Amino acid sequence: MTRAAFAASIASAVGALALMRSAHASESYAVTHTDAQWRQLLGPARYPILRENGTEPPGSSPLNDEHRSGTYSCAACGLANFSSRTKYDAGEGWPSFWAALPDAIRTRADYELADPRTEAHCRRCGSHLGHIFDDGPPPTGKRYCIDGLALKFAPGKAA
Ligand SMILES: [Zn+2]
Repeated sequence: MTRAAFAASIASAVGALALMRSAHASESYAVTHTDAQWRQLLGPARYPILRENGTEPPGSSPLNDEHRSGTYSCAACGLANFSSRTKYDAGEGWPSFWAALPDAIRTRADYELADPRTEAHCRRCGSHLGHIFDDGPPPTGKRYCIDGLALKFAPGKAA
């Protein structure tokens, strides 16, 4: 490859990255705050999960052992994301669901690990919730592996 061709290929790769980034940035949400506001609203435990794509340590969430009927909502904006009806014990250490509530979740490809994963975030505020895998139970075969810190549980009638 000539030096010019090499430079051109780098330029196009950078261009593609910029495009990907702007596609991500163009996703708009009904609930928005500045980063400083999110930090204050969410506090030191929830902020890194919801706003920095963090992952809580496995087995750390009290919601792993939550078996009552009720609704799991986004801890950042309160949108109902999951129903107790689709919760199951995946044995992985995080609250798991085989489906999300209708129109609650948006996804994007996550290339942080060598094996690309599907990232899940809240439709209303864009906050990171967890990841979706294809090893869940019927009827969907999906496993929504969600950080407990990203959710707030309200017991009651299941959504
Ligand atoms: Zn939200």
